[in-house]
Amino acid sequence: MGGHAGGWHSGGVWPGLRDMTRYVFVTGGVVSSLGKGLASASIGAILEARGLKVGLTKLDPYINVDPGTMSPYQHGEVYVTADGAETDLDIGHYERFVRFRAGRHNNYTTGQIYERVIRKERSGDYLGATVQVIPHITDEIKAAIREGAGDNDVMLVEIGGTVGDIESLPFLEAIRQFGLENDAPCAYVHLTLVPYLETSGEIKTKPTQHSVKELRSIGIQPDLLLCRSKRPLPQDERKKIALFTNVAEDAVISAVDLDNIYEIPLWLHQQRVDELLVRRLGLDDARPADLGEWRAVAQARRSPETEVRIAMVGKYTGLTDAYKSVNEALAHAGLKTRTSVEIVYVDSDRLGNGGDGLAGMDGVLVPGGFGLRGIEGKIRAAEYARRHAVPYFGICLGMQVAAIEFARNVAHLESANSTEFDAATPHPVIALITEWNDATGAVKRRSEDSDLGGTMRLGEQGCRLAAGSAARAMYRDDVIRERHRHRYEFNNTYKERLCDAGLVVAGVSLDGQLVEIIEVGGHPWFVGCQFHPEFTSVPRDGHPLFIGFIGAAGRFRRERG
Ligand code: GLN
Repeated sequence: MGGHAGGWHSGGVWPGLRDMTRYVFVTGGVVSSLGKGLASASIGAILEARGLKVGLTKLDPYINVDPGTMSPYQHGEVYVTADGAETDLDIGHYERFVRFRAGRHNNYTTGQIYERVIRKERSGDYLGATVQVIPHITDEIKAAIREGAGDNDVMLVEIGGTVGDIESLPFLEAIRQFGLENDAPCAYVHLTLVPYLETSGEIKTKPTQHSVKELRSIGIQPDLLLCRSKRPLPQDERKKIALFTNVAEDAVISAVDLDNIYEIPLWLHQQRVDELLVRRLGLDDARPADLGEWRAVAQARRSPETEVRIAMVGKYTGLTDAYKSVNEALAHAGLKTRTSVEIVYVDSDRLGNGGDGLAGMDGVLVPGGFGLRGIEGKIRAAEYARRHAVPYFGICLGMQVAAIEFARNVAHLESANSTEFDAATPHPVIALITEWNDATGAVKRRSEDSDLGGTMRLGEQGCRLAAGSAARAMYRDDVIRERHRHRYEFNNTYKERLCDAGLVVAGVSLDGQLVEIIEVGGHPWFVGCQFHPEFTSVPRDGHPLFIGFIGAAGRFRRERG
């Protein structure tokens, strides 16, 4: 437990413990949406910059077993890990800030924890005991935290929700116990809001005091406070917060609003957060931080040489967090190509017949999605981009609508569609594999034996790129690995007809059975991929397809004049 403010700060290396995982627990208070995920990821980045191997886990208090069933328009995108887990979008931040591959052991919900406990109860594992929140649920939470640790030097564990929520209580109790029981030191970081009142020009520390009081009442003394505020905290306010919260004054950190999230690691390092944490964790021998790559990212962002406007054609675009990773991947490509990328959200429902609404765009992107609504608008967006030689990037559903458009308008397969949207289409160019054809070669229709709830293709899979394709040139590799999340596939029955009409199959699964990338021959840049490349794009490297797309959009803009 981190109960001794400043007590361990003199630190020193803990002999014999160098190979043990240290844990940093991150909680939030006062209000939600303070950016706990970004704060955790950025702390991860500065610890990694000190040569430490860092991993991250998120504990979500909601009862859904995973966010796979939650609407991305309410909850933000579903982030897919390499091992195929459908996780919270914060896991995406973790992978963008730290060179770490998350997996299903890095995101747990209350639903999952209870599911595990109930399964054990049903199989008699508790030997007749009354199963209770303490110790059974809390023990399961602690076990889950350890499962995610791997061989990391430091594990950051973010607790979703806000201190004071009923739902978070078992998690907070579990991390309190964890600190007491763990052999190596743990640190507790608490993120709060320090509001600035415009009218009186005052900074208010009371909500932070109350939030820490709440945390201390359940036995957790934070070691470090990250105070979100509009402007830097004056010294006397820091002193006041320190006094009332029992936190060392130098550990009351002013976390000011930054307009570029990728500058957060630099700022936290400036505030000596890595120094405080390695001392607290007994890792004083960690080398000084090397933040060269993060400086380069910040510098690239500050000095763009050109700009582009990208239309993102989606279903309902009120919550842009629904496309979080795509937005970030576009920004990363901008960093790599010194391009300022403006994203214009276009509601596909409102996209007119000729694709008007797309005039003036330097690129069209259709991201992933499910369900019928807005489909015809997306198909029109693909058509507009193809006819006007505007760079087109179709991701998952965006590839499927491009294939449908090509089938209808170039290969003259009237009413071609995906069976997801029209089960009776005469030309199911996109369909469940079971619908491609039956033993006699006739197209098999959706029926009892192939329903919508068929298995989803999830997680990382290999893809072989075709020689001479644009994708092959961009990846500079012939085998790649990318992440999937979809049920429907390009129907191989139509491959020959579409290819004869000018479609290029640029990538197939390693067994050769599934089409993974399509391109349109003769178009300056028209790529559709069945996988989700946005999940593997990171700010320090960018992603080949996004970099290619933004580069093409820049050329399109210059040539358009
Ligand atoms: N709805 C489509 C499918 O299930 C596409 C899914 C997606 O874009 N992620 O195949």
